[in-house]
Amino acid sequence: MRSAIERRELLKGVYDEARDCVACPLHETRTTVVFGAGNADADLMFIGEAPGANEDRMGLPFVGQAGKLLDRLLGEIGMDRKDVFVANTLKCRPPDNRDPYPHELAACQDYLFRQVELIEPVVICTLGNFSTKLLRGDATGISRLHGQPEVREVGPRAVRLYPLYHPAAALYTPSTLEALRADFARIPDLVALGPPPQPTSIDPVPEPEEPAPEQPAELQAQQLGLF
Ligand code: SF4
Repeated sequence: MRSAIERRELLKGVYDEARDCVACPLHETRTTVVFGAGNADADLMFIGEAPGANEDRMGLPFVGQAGKLLDRLLGEIGMDRKDVFVANTLKCRPPDNRDPYPHELAACQDYLFRQVELIEPVVICTLGNFSTKLLRGDATGISRLHGQPEVREVGPRAVRLYPLYHPAAALYTPSTLEALRADFARIPDLVALGPPPQPTSIDPVPEPEEPAPEQPAELQAQQLGLF
């Protein structure tokens, strides 16, 4: 069992790799790699689709209106960003916010799987159709699945996967906001269940190799949520 400090250090190693990543063509158009932010020791993760324009500029996930709604909903269940880890399926912004291409997702998925392996969340909330379909490996849409937890393997970990509407979809549709709020209210009970049984063979994540060049300390601290 890793300590919170060990998780954070290992996660920083993955972040150091990601921030210089050129594994898919999105590196040519991004401003910043949006690795994810929050608590490296969180029981609860949120996974959206990909960074938008604000996220690309600031290097942080969910910083616009949808992010503010996410913060508000977390507050309503007695939590905030420092309690959770927020990431996306893709770490770089697709131009004009188009949908990610399969080869981009294939190139990027190892970062997400390593985040999940290191953070060891109990619950992963997928936000919206895209991440829900991707992590479930099936085309069933969010309107049928939201609010229904199930045990799924995400990379090497078994987690309680909990599909939710994307906060952006709830911004201007009161009925969606109502459903999202009701689904959020069940999160604490889900987290309290603890992790589901794990697959038998989980290989340890290797220790980070050579440190990459330093990024401004403030951005590093924000991205990793070293609260
Ligand atoms: S989207 Fe992922 S795989 Fe593509 S360049 Fe960015 S970090 Fe690398």
